[in-house]
Amino acid sequence: MSANLPDSERLRIRETMALFPASGGSVLDAGCGDGRLLDRLPNEVVIGIDVDPEKLSACRRPVVRGSIHALPFSTGSFDTVVCAEVLEHLPDSLVFLAADELQRVARTTLVVTVPWEEDLMQATTRCNQCGRSFHLSGHLRSFTSKRLSAAFPQFVVEAVCTFGKRTEYESYVFARLMRMFGGRWPVPARGLVCQSCGSSNVGSEGNAFAALIAHFHWRWCSLLKRCGKDYWIGMRLVRKTESGGGRSRHA
Ligand SMILES: [Zn+2]
Repeated sequence: MSANLPDSERLRIRETMALFPASGGSVLDAGCGDGRLLDRLPNEVVIGIDVDPEKLSACRRPVVRGSIHALPFSTGSFDTVVCAEVLEHLPDSLVFLAADELQRVARTTLVVTVPWEEDLMQATTRCNQCGRSFHLSGHLRSFTSKRLSAAFPQFVVEAVCTFGKRTEYESYVFARLMRMFGGRWPVPARGLVCQSCGSSNVGSEGNAFAALIAHFHWRWCSLLKRCGKDYWIGMRLVRKTESGGGRSRHA
């Protein structure tokens, strides 16, 4: 378990846990990473699954190594399946396979969180070595509330919440102006390397035009920080009954 988490992560975990059904039961944490959520769950029976063996080694609760789009569990194995901050990382070819697997393995409840209506360009940078552009956190897709719930047709939404303030702001227009005409791409704070060529020469402050835009952009940011929307969206979904609606046995 990751002990020293930033406040934003603590908030995210707290809000995610608040979406869990009060009835308890068994839980699968699909895409558990380093166990930051998994290890904090009060449920007696919990299992985590992730593709990254290094992250799994940090978990204290039982874990297995595997892919979210091919879960090694039988149908209805867990009362609740949680999938937090995973679906936005999946390519088109896998996201619906993963959603099908989550629905198959969850007996009654799904808890899902993703970044809410993220403008992917804002965290997109470029490698100065090979020219490839990529999202700093590896996000490949953005979800609206509708897009998220539509991925789980066997389930019905029971609770929705948004939480966490955005820490960096660019307008849709500024982000594109700065990339296209200013040559300005986010410079990663930590030692992030290009996913294609492995170069650490990533991002750029850009030209004079970018500096000018950045000046106005700073004022724009101050405004957005006051009225900006939440960063994440979380949902609790329950399996549809035969009559088509949700039922509240585990609400
Ligand atoms: Zn590269």
